[in-house]
Amino acid sequence: MEELYDVTVIGGGTTGLYAAFYSGMRDLKTKVIEYQPQVGGKVSFFYPEKEIYDVGGFPGITGEELVANVKEQAEMIDPAFVTGVKVTSFEKKEGGTLLLATDDGQTHHTKTVIVASGLGTFDMQPLEVKGSEHYDGKQIHYTIQNLEQYRGRKVAVVSQNRVGIDWSLALEGVADEVHLLNRGDEFKAVYEQDVEKVEASSVHIHKNKKIEELRGKDDLKEAVLQDGSVLEVDHILVYEGLQIDKSLYDAWGLETDKGRIPVSTDMCASMEGVFVAGDAAVYPAKTMLIASGFNEAMAAVNSAAKYLDPKAKSQVYSTVIYKHK
Ligand SMILES: Cc1cc2nc3c(=O)[nH]c(=O)nc-3n(C[C@H](O)[C@H](O)[C@H](O)COP(=O)(O)OP(=O)(O)OC[C@H]3O[C@@H](n4cnc5c(N)ncnc54)[C@H](O)[C@@H]3O)c2cc1C
Repeated sequence: MEELYDVTVIGGGTTGLYAAFYSGMRDLKTKVIEYQPQVGGKVSFFYPEKEIYDVGGFPGITGEELVANVKEQAEMIDPAFVTGVKVTSFEKKEGGTLLLATDDGQTHHTKTVIVASGLGTFDMQPLEVKGSEHYDGKQIHYTIQNLEQYRGRKVAVVSQNRVGIDWSLALEGVADEVHLLNRGDEFKAVYEQDVEKVEASSVHIHKNKKIEELRGKDDLKEAVLQDGSVLEVDHILVYEGLQIDKSLYDAWGLETDKGRIPVSTDMCASMEGVFVAGDAAVYPAKTMLIASGFNEAMAAVNSAAKYLDPKAKSQVYSTVIYKHK
């Protein structure tokens, strides 16, 4: 028999991780299901290196550090983590148990669900150079986690976007050489000051250039550009846009509004036992920010606790941390 959980959180972004922690604080047996191989959601995906200034209690913290902290906080209550799988559908059984199906053919049984899956799943557009997958994760990266691995190295950033400019500037001063390869003749989705900043930096900007060939037997050594010029490289960072798979909330049978889930202040969705938090939720004056996700996660868990036991307290203080065995 599949184990039955009190709460299953869909999405392991900052909201989902915090929801998992809070659910444990309310002594609820908790599972997190995340599509990416690692947790962290948009913060890990888009801006791990960025300094974040608007989360209470942190005058400044990088995305990577914030995710590490929220993950550590979630792990304090030992939730079950299932990563690398996508929730594709759910079904309510007689007696109220929800059955979540994932794309690996498994089902997950739960009394309640907290939807913290943002706007759906996203994957990076891969570098379209023959054999690039051979170096994936080792020398070709699609996020900029762990800046230290680039120290003293030669790095090429492949991007036309502000993300590429941000990464290049974050690498400047860490890497030995930074090359920003733009396959067009201008940058997209940027402010003028972003371009001015990178132009004034030591980053080598190559416009109308893309990689045609990668050389190096076991380790990547060189990138050959379409004009035949050769760049020595130790690492390549790629941001060529996203493949977004829109949210499946309609298919899950939930009421939606432009791909998100309308809720009131108790964070209840249109299906009993289903609660929502973070970017997935929409209500008047909703802000799509990390801190709002934390607050909504708390409200969603409190509502789930009340749903599971109408006599449960409306709120608790963080005096006791429970661990489910
Ligand atoms: C460039 C940029 C800069 C930003 N800067 C700031 C800032 O400075 N301060 C701030 O507060 N906010 C900022 N934000 C907004 C902030 O990142 C989001 O509000 C926050 O990340 C939302 O977190 P979340 O956990 O709700 O959603 P997400 O981070 O989107 O996480 C959702 C998770 O659910 C997973 N998922 C989706 N569908 C499924 C499925 N079917 N099955 C399993 N898993 C699934 C996804 O893979 C993802 O990991 C910024 C956003 C961007 C894009």
